[in-house]
Amino acid sequence: MRRFDAIFIGAGQAGPFLAARMAELGRKVALIERKFLGGTCVNAGCMPTKTLVASARAAAVARKAAAYGVLLGGDIRIDMKVVQARAQKVTLDAREGLRTWLAGLEGMTVLYGHARLRDPTTVEVGGEILSAPQIFLNVGARPTKPDFPGLSDIPYLTSTSILQLDVVPRHLIVIGGSYIGLEFAQMYRRFGAEVTVIERGARLASREDEDVSEAIRQIIVSDGIAVHTDAGSFSFAKVPEGVSVKLADGTSISGSHVLVAVGRTPNTDDLGLEAAGVAVDKRGYIGVNDRLETNVPGIWALGDCNGHGAFTHTSYNDFEIVAANLLDGEARRLADRIPGYALYIDPPLGRAGITEREARASGRPIMVSTRPMSRVGRAVEKGETAGFMKLIADAETQKILGASLLGIEGDEAVHGILDAMHAGTTFTVQKWAVPIHPTVSELLPTLIGELKRV
Ligand SMILES: Cc1cc2nc3c(=O)[nH]c(=O)nc-3n(C[C@H](O)[C@H](O)[C@H](O)COP(=O)(O)OP(=O)(O)OC[C@H]3O[C@@H](n4cnc5c(N)ncnc54)[C@H](O)[C@@H]3O)c2cc1C
Repeated sequence: MRRFDAIFIGAGQAGPFLAARMAELGRKVALIERKFLGGTCVNAGCMPTKTLVASARAAAVARKAAAYGVLLGGDIRIDMKVVQARAQKVTLDAREGLRTWLAGLEGMTVLYGHARLRDPTTVEVGGEILSAPQIFLNVGARPTKPDFPGLSDIPYLTSTSILQLDVVPRHLIVIGGSYIGLEFAQMYRRFGAEVTVIERGARLASREDEDVSEAIRQIIVSDGIAVHTDAGSFSFAKVPEGVSVKLADGTSISGSHVLVAVGRTPNTDDLGLEAAGVAVDKRGYIGVNDRLETNVPGIWALGDCNGHGAFTHTSYNDFEIVAANLLDGEARRLADRIPGYALYIDPPLGRAGITEREARASGRPIMVSTRPMSRVGRAVEKGETAGFMKLIADAETQKILGASLLGIEGDEAVHGILDAMHAGTTFTVQKWAVPIHPTVSELLPTLIGELKRV
């Protein structure tokens, strides 16, 4: 049995950084990864997809170049092999950077293989037993494989396998109208595929407010994507042209490829959690307290597998919380995290805090203001005026509760709101800030000035 001060299972967006901090402090740590260093973000998530989104945007801008007075001459064509190679290079460079960094740390042992807990202090990997008084789980999640009728009889793509595609599908059917599905739908449409999005629920991105969902739908449809919401239950069958999807109302849609993007499942089912007595909820997420400790002393769960975040920044923040509490003598808590994320369709949606629906449901007196991007100078100048901005505030405390910035640069501009929320300032303070012209952010004080009781 090899003994360590700490064992990390999964090299996602939290574990490697905490392991490195501990190794730098002279501790002996083992980091176990069953596939690729960097986990989902680097290998099958943010990095490759945002690289592909950039290629798709370049295609979209090139197609409308003439409207800007830029004449390219001839049709815009896509070389999917180059597009795919570019995304792969970004992934491989990041993975290699991580490997070199970790290899250079004294006290760090990186092991490859599927790890399982045997009890609260021992882990088995590749037939070897390791032990440590502290174990950190950072095992992430994988695409959910639903049991829709007929799905197991057809070849279909997930958000991971689609990254290997180096051809443009003739007709891509995307099952699931949420964040991951919408990003792929728009990028493949821009690469030249016919694209249909099928969503079981009543609207796209249903976690968002209705007006935001509707504006997202308009953006998606204006790119030439067919959208079927309220699709009910559907079934799949093989047909000569590829695959056909039959919706509850009898509509049949056939395409050459199907992408199933209906959620993520935590990688906790084959981790030996029962052997160690670690509790999970009914969806398989590991239960943690405000300091990311599980119910078993000496075992922590960080990142997507604890169900408190589904993003790289939330996973990294989990690392920061645990490092602060364990190594830095600070008291950081999960409860202090203000939710923020982006949806990377083009233009993107930048989100902070709660939605208007959640604010209304809370029963507190609220104020709301909205502004279409067509009334944002920067968007007009760029010729990209789709979307709108919305701010929600508490009428009593005068603090901002949330923001949805759907429009060009919305993913960046939202940080002005996130920072103000984190600093705990009132919107009256932020209203007197002097933002730079011409930016999207310069409209934030205006939005604040237009807040009205609802
Ligand atoms: C298509 C897509 C796009 C995304 N885009 C964004 C985005 O734009 N912005 C954003 O913030 N987030 C995005 N995400 C989410 C983001 O990638 C994840 O939230 C992030 O990677 C955090 O993951 P993590 O640290 O929890 O673990 P992960 O990164 O998932 O890593 C977990 C690691 O654990 C390993 N592992 C699992 N079980 C074991 C075991 N038993 N033994 C050994 N190793 C094991 C896995 O192989 C994996 O490498 C996207 C995700 C997807 C799928």
